[in-house]
Amino acid sequence: MSEKYCYNLKHGLSFHQKNIRFCTTLQLGEIISFYEEQPKDLALKILSTRKKIIDNLKEGILPAGCENCIYKVGKYDEQEKIKRIDLYYWYHCNCGCYYCSYRDETKGEFSDKIKEGNPVIYKTIKELYKLNEIDRNNLFVNFGGGELGVLKEFPKLINLFLKNNVENIWCETSGIRFSNELAKALRNGKAGLSIAICSGCPETYKKIKKRDKYKQVLNNLKKYVIAAGKCKNNQNNISRVISKYIILEGFNNNKEEIDKWLNDSVNIGIKQVEISMEFCWGIHTKKGKKVENYNYELFSYTEEKCKLLGLNLKKNETSLAIMNEGIY
Ligand code: SF4
Ligand code: SF4
Repeated sequence: MSEKYCYNLKHGLSFHQKNIRFCTTLQLGEIISFYEEQPKDLALKILSTRKKIIDNLKEGILPAGCENCIYKVGKYDEQEKIKRIDLYYWYHCNCGCYYCSYRDETKGEFSDKIKEGNPVIYKTIKELYKLNEIDRNNLFVNFGGGELGVLKEFPKLINLFLKNNVENIWCETSGIRFSNELAKALRNGKAGLSIAICSGCPETYKKIKKRDKYKQVLNNLKKYVIAAGKCKNNQNNISRVISKYIILEGFNNNKEEIDKWLNDSVNIGIKQVEISMEFCWGIHTKKGKKVENYNYELFSYTEEKCKLLGLNLKKNETSLAIMNEGIY
């Protein structure tokens, strides 16, 4: 991979709460807009900034923040269109996870109320389609941030991407509120999702998430599995619905809870699970400290159990990188 190139920079567009960037990771690159312009003007500004970035890339110039980036992607693509859109622009959520990385913004507050995120973003993406700046054959959309189930414009955004033949929409969701649009995208083989349930019973779920919704989330996961199973073009489509377990000291770092989580996953038809360390919150509080042994032990234990149960296991990549280093 060339040190002077990054696929994300050439093809990415990343919407945040206060600004637009050209890669979610990049803090020191071009940042435009504070959503003050009209969507059409904003789309044109995106166009001209992308041109500048791509011209720089042709000269081998990357922003300073890219130098030591571990997410740099070397895959070269002749085309210059947008092929990745990250949507990280709202923090509102219906869940109160102990480890949430947005706790500084939300102050730990949550509610079931459906709120508007930023209607300018939907209109700007529409303009970018009109300008033919987005690749209609190969677009990956990544929903991060708060909870998509309580984002008012989520259905509109999903329908816009589906209408324009999106390749794949990846969603992280609390799973508390079922989304018919997400289920539709799953049925069409155009989406994948991950729900960090992190527990195998209502009591542990409530301790971690501050909500008494274990059974509801499990039931919604099952409905997403059923939707994914209806996709005719991809036999492995159910694997795109992932039940995730983030290991938290004092809450769920024990084999009994992992057993219950895996059994419930199998019972609802899940084919793929993910195991992860807790690093979003831990990175603030544990920086420089040794990675605890229980993480290694529970990763190995989960691997063994998944083999026995016939489940695919995804080991969270950032966790593996931290565990290889041995320190936070
Ligand atoms: S090198 Fe890293 S920070 Fe820079 S654009 Fe690529 S992924 Fe983003
Ligand atoms: S579901 Fe996600 S956004 Fe919501 S509180 Fe939990 S970690 Fe934070």
